[in-house]
Amino acid sequence: MPVLIPRSLDVAVEMASSHPDAHILAGGTDLMVEVNFNHRKPETVLALRHVDELRGWTIDAATRTVHIGSAVPFSEMEHGALSEALPALAEAARTVGSPQIRAAGTIGGNLGTCSPAGDSLPVLAAMEATVHLRSTSGERAMPFAEFMTGPKRNARRGDEIITGVSMPIADGWQGYAKVGVRNAMVISVASACLALQSTGPRLALGSVGPVIIRCHDAEALVADRPGAVDAALAAEFGRLAAAASSPIDDHRSTAAYRRHAVSVLAGRLLQRGTARP
Ligand SMILES: Cc1cc2nc3c(=O)[nH]c(=O)nc-3n(C[C@H](O)[C@H](O)[C@H](O)COP(=O)(O)OP(=O)(O)OC[C@H]3O[C@@H](n4cnc5c(N)ncnc54)[C@H](O)[C@@H]3O)c2cc1C
Repeated sequence: MPVLIPRSLDVAVEMASSHPDAHILAGGTDLMVEVNFNHRKPETVLALRHVDELRGWTIDAATRTVHIGSAVPFSEMEHGALSEALPALAEAARTVGSPQIRAAGTIGGNLGTCSPAGDSLPVLAAMEATVHLRSTSGERAMPFAEFMTGPKRNARRGDEIITGVSMPIADGWQGYAKVGVRNAMVISVASACLALQSTGPRLALGSVGPVIIRCHDAEALVADRPGAVDAALAAEFGRLAAAASSPIDDHRSTAAYRRHAVSVLAGRLLQRGTARP
């Protein structure tokens, strides 16, 4: 099959426009699995490995915004300045696959696949991230909540390249937790991100619905309650999180277990986030 290898974003966008059916390849940790299992048979591949503009990230102190290029791998989010700006993203990145998968797999690929189990996605939902796309018609930016339209579905047009994602720097505690069938190298059965931003608490759940779910009732419960949280309030927070979820039974877990798991994860995150040292 032909593999298109652009060396700049402008050329990549031109190629995506002239080959809207091309399968975009970033780290290949999802795409090549699908090709190997014959679930996808690309006639043309558009490989982004050499598009340097997609591989950088910036932290803008003036606007207190983080921008992460779509081809930034999870391994770069785990440590350093990016992990200090977005601790929950770092925690999520550390749970992805193995070191090899984290070195190859990118945030743009997580967005491109848009699995409800994608580990970066609850963080993007909780941080109300903006997804940036580009085509020959120009740039589009949309909230992550509008970008993800269903399980493995998103609002990207065939001629568009996801260029990156931006979100505010954490200005309060934030954390990510997931449950899987074992402790490492595991796709989540249920996951949760809690961000205690100065504008209010934000809770988002993964793997318990067709899209990432924001839990507005749980957020409202603790919005005006600064300080440590007792076990009863944490349990109620978890109950509201479970009530917002709409999990299914599948080969990884049952809906009932997933509902229980997100209630525990949400309650624990709240207690961790509000505990005084
Ligand atoms: C062994 C293994 C373990 C894994 N464990 C986890 C895990 O724990 N958590 C998790 O979340 N995921 C996991 N994954 C899935 C995968 O690693 C992630 O989804 C990763 O983010 C995919 O990124 P990638 O760069 O490899 O994407 P690719 O495979 O290159 O692409 C994925 C999809 O996104 C599209 N795409 C990629 N970049 C762009 C772009 N810039 N613009 C438009 N479309 C684009 C591609 O066309 C494709 O449809 C695992 C995969 C494997 C093989």
